[in-house]
Amino acid sequence: MDTLISEENWERLLLRVQKPSRYIGREINSYKKDWESAKVRIVFAFPDTYEVGMSHFGISLLYHLANSHQEYIADRVFAPWLDMEQELRSHGLPLLTLDQKRPLKDFDIVGFSLQYELSFTNILTILDLSGIPLFASERKNGDWPLIIGGGPCVFNPEPVAPFFDFFVLGEGEEVLINVLEKIQLKKENKLGRKEFLEELRHIPGIYIPEFFEDTYDQNGVFKGVKPVFDDYEAVEKAVVSDLDEKSPLPAKPIVPYMKIVHDRLSIEIARGCTRGCRFCQAGMIYRPVRERDPYRVMDLADRALHCTGFEEISLLSLSSGDYTNIEFVLSSLMAKHREEQVSIALPSLRIGTLSSTLIEEIKKVRKTGFTLAPEAGSERLRRVINKDISTDELLEISSYIYENGWQLIKLYFMMGLPTETNEDLEAIVDVCFKVWSIAGKARPKGKVNVSVSTFVPKPHTPFQWCKQISLEQIYRNLDFFKKRLNKKGMQLKWHNPPQSFMEAILSRGDRRLARVIFTAWKMGARFDGWTEHFKFDLWKEAFKSSKLPEHLWNASKKDLDEPLPWDHLHSKIEKDFLVKEYKKALSGEYTSDCRWHKCLKCGVCDFKNIEPVLKKAEPDQYSQVKSLPNNDKNVDSFFYRLKFKKTGTSKLLSHLELVGVFTRAIRRARLPIAFSRGYNPHMKISFWHALPVGFESKSEYLNMTLEEKLSCEEILRNLNKELPCGIEVLQAENTKKLVRWPEEFIVVYNVRLFDGIWQEESWDKFKANPRHIERTTKKGKKRTFDTMKYINSLVFHDEKTLYINLKQSMTGCPSLLEILGAIFGPAYATPWRISVVKLDILPVTGDNLWQQN
Ligand code: SF4
Repeated sequence: MDTLISEENWERLLLRVQKPSRYIGREINSYKKDWESAKVRIVFAFPDTYEVGMSHFGISLLYHLANSHQEYIADRVFAPWLDMEQELRSHGLPLLTLDQKRPLKDFDIVGFSLQYELSFTNILTILDLSGIPLFASERKNGDWPLIIGGGPCVFNPEPVAPFFDFFVLGEGEEVLINVLEKIQLKKENKLGRKEFLEELRHIPGIYIPEFFEDTYDQNGVFKGVKPVFDDYEAVEKAVVSDLDEKSPLPAKPIVPYMKIVHDRLSIEIARGCTRGCRFCQAGMIYRPVRERDPYRVMDLADRALHCTGFEEISLLSLSSGDYTNIEFVLSSLMAKHREEQVSIALPSLRIGTLSSTLIEEIKKVRKTGFTLAPEAGSERLRRVINKDISTDELLEISSYIYENGWQLIKLYFMMGLPTETNEDLEAIVDVCFKVWSIAGKARPKGKVNVSVSTFVPKPHTPFQWCKQISLEQIYRNLDFFKKRLNKKGMQLKWHNPPQSFMEAILSRGDRRLARVIFTAWKMGARFDGWTEHFKFDLWKEAFKSSKLPEHLWNASKKDLDEPLPWDHLHSKIEKDFLVKEYKKALSGEYTSDCRWHKCLKCGVCDFKNIEPVLKKAEPDQYSQVKSLPNNDKNVDSFFYRLKFKKTGTSKLLSHLELVGVFTRAIRRARLPIAFSRGYNPHMKISFWHALPVGFESKSEYLNMTLEEKLSCEEILRNLNKELPCGIEVLQAENTKKLVRWPEEFIVVYNVRLFDGIWQEESWDKFKANPRHIERTTKKGKKRTFDTMKYINSLVFHDEKTLYINLKQSMTGCPSLLEILGAIFGPAYATPWRISVVKLDILPVTGDNLWQQN
């Protein structure tokens, strides 16, 4: 980074964009290894924002796995938001990684996580901003990093295949380490790209697109792929046979500064789901079911909570309720961590798995909303999709949920499923009304949110041959739902139809679509998964200008014997099994779950290395998990006032982010912090004044209440060990009562100009003819401030630096930037043009700033 841009200029650049904490990196538990001594360097790239990518468990798993090897460096990069892309381009800067702060070009591999098709254009942004040629064919000569991809989209990566050197099909843990070892050898033996790829083809799960050629007939109809090598005609997905042995959970997950989408400790408890929903790609490609050992899960949860400070644990699986030990793990974790006010979330619960014990456990921590996904309205259509839930069962569980204190049920449905008729749409309305009527009888009255998305046929599922309904039909259905589901207490939400259409086109497309993606990106497509940024007209234009056959712009039905672009990529499920399931769907025949019933011979398990893995907790070990008493007890309170500084990069954190940094540091430091009582307990900690983003301070304060008395030295020592660089507690004081924040005070600022010099005559003119500052509140009210009343003193230290003492109050006053703007003009009040340090806080009169409540 030193050679590209100075730390100071980088921070100034970040002040020009929304949410600078997306790009800060170097979070708690991230790695900062020595660049020079590493043998292989990989960067994991997620083609969406930091807050989306950091919520993805897979990238965290692989990041920690690669870094657990001394000789490898694994780093991270995310798609820059539009403002950051523009800043990087206008400053001629490359996109930098988060830990090493290096351009992607410096790495040996860039590994993209391909989770959803509508993130494809962001891949090109990341490559382009890194100065890496977009097409693999342009990287054949030269020392470019290898561009690789993994994730569910790799089960048909053809639309993006021309941009990649190779893909990892299936589960990456073992393949990744294998590839890193091979790259180390490649570097040592100075192997060329071609030679290296030829060698790589022998690793199971590695798909190298340039070793397969697409073929088409004279009408441009896809006719299959032609392999280049006789010994490389198809690729089988990689499967991890036992998660406990081969896929270690990250014991020290990264703690982000900013609020990410899933801002909690995520622990994968199982992989795979064999319920057999016929539309569900994840249910097919991640077979078989493999559970993690419950004791390892609980042990990991303990350790990871203590080194992260997260307030919530999420037990991840495609269907958490199916995990053999779910009730045991849930109740044990709840009992163990209730004292610390840690809650547990089960993000994907199937209706059939909701036992009363499970609901009892979940209700102990949160009742914000309960999600149920019947997917189809009628029982007939639920049989077609293999979702074995009766409407009675759904209604019964809904009653139980409202009776147990939840006020909101979210119902998820899909429209356009194969064989759907108008009666099935009516049945969705009918089910919604029935749940709504149950909600109406609950006390207090409950609510229903209905979410409708459009079916997207996905490769490797029994519905891979089915059509998607037309856009016109989607809009007609939506109109129908909007008219019918229009009741007080019921809210309808839907997925944007053109985005569902594009997803269908890209998920079953062939290699030719790379041209469309490239053109759309060139025309400005970015963040297509974000409804507010998705530009359908632009995609239509890109397709038109690519001059591809019309049938590629159509998610129509496919024949069972038609060659498919992903036929050479094997999920291990036999095609015959998918055909059989497709036919059973048409006749409404249910297929049981091989987890509970006999093997259905889908083809995934060989019963030597790969088979379902269910791990039951031994009954005699149950007693080892000790429950702690609940916290309804009388506790003592000890009050402390802390003075701290916020300097360096931490100045880029918002006030809310700073609060998160402290609350998690307090948990990691294991301070006996007190919590408020009631349904939603909060840590007893309060900050004085929110410091604007970009300001440094050597004089910030917070109050906190502990349940046990600690010495101030102990607090300082323990807390400072857990605070990130730039934030440090300078003083701790044990007070008799909570300190009341002063109403009025003087703030001493040091303000330095980066460019230009302070115009002293502007200050002279202002004093002679002071102007008032006018501000309009959010409600449109005007407020006027007599500026001079707030300026205690202003002294020019030199031509670039001044000291200004401002009288500030808790009830509203002009800000430093408003005052500087009024005196010197707006250019002097631009956050990235000045460096502000809050030096001290002084009393307005006398010498005592503090009062105790
Ligand atoms: S091979 Fe049998 S046991 Fe294994 S996932 Fe398929 S159906 Fe289940």
